[in-house]
Amino acid sequence: MAIIKTDIHELIDQEEQRQLRKIGLIPSENNGSPEMHDVLSSCLSNKYSEGYEGRRYYEGSQVIDQIEYQARTRIMSLFGVPYVNVQPYSGSPANSAIYFALMEPGDTLMGLKLAMGGHLTHGHPNVTFSGKYFNAVQYGVDDRARIDFDEVRALAKKHKPKVLIAGNTAYPFEMDFKKFRDIADEAGAWLVADISHVTGLVVGGEHPDPVPYADVIMSTTHKTFRGPRGAMIMVTERGMERDPSLGKKIDSAIIPGLQGGPHNATTAAIAIAAEQAARPEFTEYAKQIRRNADALAASLKDRGVKLVGDGTETHLMVVDLTSYSDGLGTQVAYAMDVAGMYANRNTVPHEPCSPFYPSGIRLGTPLVTTRGMKEPEMEQIGEWIARVIDRVKDHTMPEDKTKRSAFVKEFRATADADSVLLGIEKEVAELTAKFPLFQWL
Ligand SMILES: *Cc1c(COP(=O)(O)O)cnc(C)c1O
Repeated sequence: MAIIKTDIHELIDQEEQRQLRKIGLIPSENNGSPEMHDVLSSCLSNKYSEGYEGRRYYEGSQVIDQIEYQARTRIMSLFGVPYVNVQPYSGSPANSAIYFALMEPGDTLMGLKLAMGGHLTHGHPNVTFSGKYFNAVQYGVDDRARIDFDEVRALAKKHKPKVLIAGNTAYPFEMDFKKFRDIADEAGAWLVADISHVTGLVVGGEHPDPVPYADVIMSTTHKTFRGPRGAMIMVTERGMERDPSLGKKIDSAIIPGLQGGPHNATTAAIAIAAEQAARPEFTEYAKQIRRNADALAASLKDRGVKLVGDGTETHLMVVDLTSYSDGLGTQVAYAMDVAGMYANRNTVPHEPCSPFYPSGIRLGTPLVTTRGMKEPEMEQIGEWIARVIDRVKDHTMPEDKTKRSAFVKEFRATADADSVLLGIEKEVAELTAKFPLFQWL
């Protein structure tokens, strides 16, 4: 049957044009392969299949069983783990499931502070379930912007957490999983590695592998892994040795604990992404993400733009704008979008302004690398970003908090009509016209 195009299709076309024309620098975003998207919009979405292979609550799940089996076994062989659950709806529910499997309400959990690069679900106080239902203790980074292992060790010794989380969302450096393991052992804690951001780099050999050290590993599937929006929870050999029922506990934490029917189209898309991630071309992709991140960092630094911790060892970096003024992230992120490059404003360690009006910009290279861009394009993007910063750096965020939202409104109107920013946008569009949303390198 022919598809009847609606106003929603029109909006999707607009979004596709936006993605094609602009340069995506949000490190958690990526463009999936056409095969992945094809599977994602298939008839699998029609089917209910609560439960697990061979023990579903709904009839007619014979094919779904085979698809979920493929997704699981491909992930297990890709990472070398004895157990995986591919049903979590996304990263945040997956972390909830892990906590419910390993802890009771009120137990202690330790993670990296949000403002220093951790994720909301790692125990951010007051406003998140992870900070409300558990006793969250948070560690930070030192003055080189590296994880402060002395602090992690001291806090673990004092608070004896049940779960120690090694993971992050805005931290530009490699994770030392062995150090986390040693501290977890001293405290008797479970070590959970949340590698959502770096999974693709781990698979491609460009980031340390948590499998020898962690008990449980969580990853989203839509970031560097380049699959559908979703998540997976793995248990390592080590975790299984410590508690042979760990996999069962996680299965039950997902359903009946937290979720109902799995998203079967997503499961199939994870199977597709896992097959693609096992290809030599994917290793090349991971290497190019790293080369591009180094090239972008160098281009920015050559132009006097400061980076948190002075660089990157991963796919991402955080621009530190405090040398211009505190709270400049909002203006720079907005102006970059006007100039055809979208990123997100982000806190810097020891953020001097506020989490809502922070002083940094987070940049990443997974998406531009998927489009086929390489070092020369990164050099050019760095030059454009430096030009944008130079254009807006004198638009200082008011210190008076009550004046900030009116200031931002006025700033946006100015930026929307700024000839320099609009000029850069034209240059950007000339470049992006040469790059499809997805290609194998
Ligand atoms: C993205 C991310 C999550 C959450 O994933 P959602 O799919 O957005 O819920 C959890 N942990 C880390 C480290 C992440 O980067």
